[in-house]
Amino acid sequence: MTLDLRDRIVDVPDFPTEGIVFKDVMPLLADREHLAETIRLLAEWSRAREPDVILGAEARGFIFGGALAYELGVGFVAARKPGKLPRATVEATYALEYGTDSLHVHRDAIAAGARVIVLDDVLATGGTARAKVDLVEQLDGIVAGALFVIELTFLGGRDRLDGYDVHSLIQY
Ligand code: AMP
Repeated sequence: MTLDLRDRIVDVPDFPTEGIVFKDVMPLLADREHLAETIRLLAEWSRAREPDVILGAEARGFIFGGALAYELGVGFVAARKPGKLPRATVEATYALEYGTDSLHVHRDAIAAGARVIVLDDVLATGGTARAKVDLVEQLDGIVAGALFVIELTFLGGRDRLDGYDVHSLIQY
């Protein structure tokens, strides 16, 4: 019997705002078999891209990213909201529904020439992923892939990542 990851992803209508169908992955994380299968599938795709590190943004990107990095035997780098990282950072700004937000990484977190897989739970409009790609390239790292558990194909996030190796485990 093969596991269907979709069985542990719950649609929450009108969260956090009206009209958004939020994909809640907490039941998937809480189920040991679904979590293991998710990390196994993420690792299978990642291995061939030979990453040196996984870059994930808070908060769910930390959970999947930490587990994936451990499974691959590579490092994990955190992309964080402004004001969270204690040392010198680079910054990338991205558009939100209203206004902008930004992500930071420590300047010494990614070495020049390092192969980096950027990871998130959901690819929606692609703004967050694009910001992570920009952070890697500001530090002269190589984007070895952009990887997601879930892709909301109707939002066209993949178009923002044109030219990069993009993969998602589940598409809606
Ligand atoms: P985006 O920058 O539009 O691709 O949005 C991606 C980020 O927002 C990811 O970190 C997701 O966790 C979160 N996100 C966006 N849309 C959803 C959704 N429908 N369900 C769950 N998370 C979402």
